[in-house]
Amino acid sequence: MNEFELIRSYFQQPSFPTRADVILGIGDDAALCRVPPQMELAVSVDTLVAGVHFPLDSAPEDIGYKALAVNLSDLAAMAAQPAWFTLALTLPSVDTDWLHGFSMGLSALASDSGIALIGGDTTRGPLSISIQVMGWVAAGQGLRRSGACPGDDIYVTGTLGDAGLGLHSLQQPLMLSAAGLAYVRARLHRPTPRLAWGQALRGVAHSAIDISDGLAADLGHILTQSSCGAELYLDHLPLSPALHHLPKSHAWTLALGAGDDYELCFTLPHAVQPSFPCTRVGTITAQPTLRCLDSQGHDWHPPTGYRHF
Ligand code: ADP
Ligand code: MG
Repeated sequence: MNEFELIRSYFQQPSFPTRADVILGIGDDAALCRVPPQMELAVSVDTLVAGVHFPLDSAPEDIGYKALAVNLSDLAAMAAQPAWFTLALTLPSVDTDWLHGFSMGLSALASDSGIALIGGDTTRGPLSISIQVMGWVAAGQGLRRSGACPGDDIYVTGTLGDAGLGLHSLQQPLMLSAAGLAYVRARLHRPTPRLAWGQALRGVAHSAIDISDGLAADLGHILTQSSCGAELYLDHLPLSPALHHLPKSHAWTLALGAGDDYELCFTLPHAVQPSFPCTRVGTITAQPTLRCLDSQGHDWHPPTGYRHF
């Protein structure tokens, strides 16, 4: 199978959605797309390298799904609506079973989110997947990291630390039920980009980011770019039942530091109530430090050895 047969068989096919705003898709030197008037283009790219960003033996369906999910999560954090993506794929060999699975996982999420595959590049080498997503947002309405103000409430969507526990479960046996194990692994392999919630924050949130490296690190980016600090209330951190069973300090460490959750973190002026389910986890402060407070209001620091943030 040559490169062009491969592209036609796995990427230029009906399981991927089509869009009326794609003037010219896969097959030419570049794609041509129409951006609606009064809209700004949001563009982001992320690379997943085998053995670094996912285990070498991950299911190809999960790799395809996650490669797009992590990119859509960036669009969600900008409050952008997904439109198009490109795929740069480096493959060690042409493995048709792998390509079929990868294409199925990728097209499943592409269909769910209405994003069209408009081009890419295919090369030989160690397995790596780069996806560039493009979406749009009304001019001036893109959510940034830089708008947080002292007094803002800090919110997160979903639950935190699940993907981190899922990763641990691949490395060592854990005391988890079969259902708990399946849940944390699904959270690791198939993160849910929070697109609708991100778009609901347009014109409302002061700042937003998606949580890819753990709440402490990613909230830290909001704080740096907004020149402020925060207090986090550890007892408010949203934890799934799988994490509730852990000792508190272990659960907090995962929730704050493990990453790969792809939930949103955002700040709202205190008077504004969010319009979708999410959890208030803290407050933005003028004092430019990040403090983690327990239920007694005492500062808490993650145990040494766990300190990846
Ligand atoms: P060029 O040589 O002009 O860069 P290529 O031969 O690399 O073009 O690719 C041919 C067409 O197939 C282009 O339209 C390109 O965007 C598309 N393409 C290549 N690889 C992929 C892929 N992995 N997924 C989707 N489209 C791809
Ligand atoms: Mg060309």
